[in-house]
Amino acid sequence: MHTVSSISLAGGQGKTTVVLFVARLLAFQGHTVLLVDADPQSSLTTFLGHTVEPDNPTLLEVLKKQVNTEDGIYKTQYDNLFLIPSDDALDNVQDYLAGSGTGAFTLKKRLASVAKLFDYCIVDAPPQRSQICLTVIGASDALMIPIETSVKGLQSLIRTLELITELRDDQEAFNGEILGVIPFRDRWVGLRRTTESESNIESMKQISTQWLESDLVLPSIRESEKFKQAINKGLTLHQMHQDDLAYPIEVIVEKIKGLK
Ligand code: ATP
Ligand code: MG
Repeated sequence: MHTVSSISLAGGQGKTTVVLFVARLLAFQGHTVLLVDADPQSSLTTFLGHTVEPDNPTLLEVLKKQVNTEDGIYKTQYDNLFLIPSDDALDNVQDYLAGSGTGAFTLKKRLASVAKLFDYCIVDAPPQRSQICLTVIGASDALMIPIETSVKGLQSLIRTLELITELRDDQEAFNGEILGVIPFRDRWVGLRRTTESESNIESMKQISTQWLESDLVLPSIRESEKFKQAINKGLTLHQMHQDDLAYPIEVIVEKIKGLK
């Protein structure tokens, strides 16, 4: 099982959107995929139409080892796609992770027992630099970094790269691959990209070259209502005949399938 997480240290950067579309395309292609909702806001759980019943184990109980990891996994309405859900109680795990000493490796350890059951595990991270975020990065073989094409997005990119390099170089908690930076809500008018999007994507290239010594900016996700519509209707972008919009998702999926 390859574990790939969506990380970006600000709200509304496209983390959950990327997780959902990437996981659904992998599952649609026949791979078995485990989704992990590691955000107490639980947007991924909601997008999948999953309801957490009061006694049902979630990621909280899995991380605290109150249940076996398998007992926190649920089927979704989609073939090949499974979910470890969350709800707002997940916030209670922060102290547990901070107190354990090896909090950055907790999720990795919990996922090890189900690694044989899935081809891929795709994790949705919270927007804050929290203990949950650290354990998500620590569990990852690879990271996807969605970044809104805005000034707020560029700040998120810098904060995110700072954290990843710190975990890699100082704490040795991450030695995976960075799949790339995915510009999110790239705005076009007719056949032209807006000057604001253009200059923000140029800045993303410069920042990623500065931090990673290579330009890791991938094809962008365009500003479009179709993504929300696809989620609401439970369809893939291909099923909605939006092949152009699906292209950036396909590129990420190919990169994930190329992981060693
Ligand atoms: P949070 O940090 O709050 O978890 P996030 O980084 O997970 O946010 P998303 O929830 O994926 O970000 O996306 C932010 C919003 O943008 C959502 O309301 C989503 O429906 C919307 N959205 C998704 N795709 C697009 C798109 N292509 N164009 C415009 N808006 C989009
Ligand atoms: Mg989210």
